[in-house]
Amino acid sequence: MTECDVFIIGGGPAGSIAAAKLVQAGYSVELVEKIKFPRFVIGESLLPRCNELLEEAGMLEAVENAGFQFKGGVAFQNEQDDIKVVNFEQNMGQKHNSSFQVRRETFDKLLLDEAEKFGAHVTMESEVTAYNETANVVTVVHKDGSEEKYHAKKVIDASGYGRVLPRLLDLDAGSALALRDAVFCRVEGDIRPTDGTDGYIYVYVVGDNDAWIWNIPLSPTVTSVGIVCSDAYYRSFNMDQKAFWEHIIANDPHAKKRYAKAKRINEVGFIGGYSSNVKKMFGDNFVMVGNATEFLDPVFSSGVTLALESGAKAADLTIKEFKGEAVDWQRDYEDYMMIGVNVFREYVEAWYDGRLQSILFSKTPGADKIERKVVSVLSGYVWDKKNMFVNAPTEAVNATYKALTGVDPY
Ligand code: FAD
Repeated sequence: MTECDVFIIGGGPAGSIAAAKLVQAGYSVELVEKIKFPRFVIGESLLPRCNELLEEAGMLEAVENAGFQFKGGVAFQNEQDDIKVVNFEQNMGQKHNSSFQVRRETFDKLLLDEAEKFGAHVTMESEVTAYNETANVVTVVHKDGSEEKYHAKKVIDASGYGRVLPRLLDLDAGSALALRDAVFCRVEGDIRPTDGTDGYIYVYVVGDNDAWIWNIPLSPTVTSVGIVCSDAYYRSFNMDQKAFWEHIIANDPHAKKRYAKAKRINEVGFIGGYSSNVKKMFGDNFVMVGNATEFLDPVFSSGVTLALESGAKAADLTIKEFKGEAVDWQRDYEDYMMIGVNVFREYVEAWYDGRLQSILFSKTPGADKIERKVVSVLSGYVWDKKNMFVNAPTEAVNATYKALTGVDPY
């Protein structure tokens, strides 16, 4: 039996930031990762809040020095040529007002390497296969087939799409969000905007909000291009993923111009039904972080931000608990996380039912008054109580929608 203070399942951003914080506070960490790194995972566009969390964990400098594509904001554009450019500098005065677009194979390896440098003991290509909650013992099967048991004071599940503890403890809960698919690949040689927004993520609304396209520049020449739509919309084309991707890109007025001379540099990938939820986020001996908990939707690039926030929060509370201070995991962790998740949930729902696009594309005088508050949310500052969208997300979105359109959404 291998003893440690904290056992972490998975070496994505959530696991790495938790590991880095815990070892820097003097606790022993065993982190076990199933796959050999570098490995691809979807989710390449970060928000400014990520920079703040990485800074607090002592990991920002390494990220800044890695040469990732600078991201100054986000632009939304529809087929009617309405455009909304969101510059992160227009936030509510929060410290960080830019972020990065990252190849996750490089970014995730960098963070895991940093956690290891700080002192975490990392074991790659080993899979967590069982968990005894009462004894707090985790079973791991290593690459050579051997089995090892670990006993920890706290187990942190950062297994992302692997959803290890939700599966093993029957904690999975279905997502209330509609079933959506994403079809994506990387291209080289796209024609970038020349107005200073070339490093921004561009989101093109397809048709009458049938789908949307992400355009994430990863370097001066390479861009990640993904299409997100309902499963029913994807199936209605009766095409395989490559044909569907090519069809949508060739027919969208903005994409067809941007990618006129671009070449695909990898296979077209597909991921479907990715929204997920859990019945609870913690137990007496464990806590779940990142995508192992709830994942909403990619439209506002919130996934890594929530993964880093929850990983950092879980580590901070574990340290408090180890020091003998009182921690109320419901209030201090789950309720805290749900404040931010619920802000993004309202934005996601309002995006798909059209309220948010009416707000973003509004030309009504006065729309600029709420600008900083919207930018702050889109920067990932979804715990800032000075922002009405944080305090009462649904009421704030509906009141703004009504003020700008004159239509009562209730
Ligand atoms: P992960 O990054 O999934 O890492 C979990 C790790 O755990 C993996 O390395 C895995 O191998 C390991 N693991 C799994 N099972 C086991 C096991 N049994 N034993 C040991 N290890 C295990 N987010 C953004 O911020 N920006 C975006 O632009 C964005 N776009 C997205 C687009 C789409 C279509 C989708 C579906 C998601 C997108 N996301 C985006 C979300 C993003 O992918 C996730 O939120 C993020 O990767 C979560 O990080 P994590 O650390 O929780 O998990």
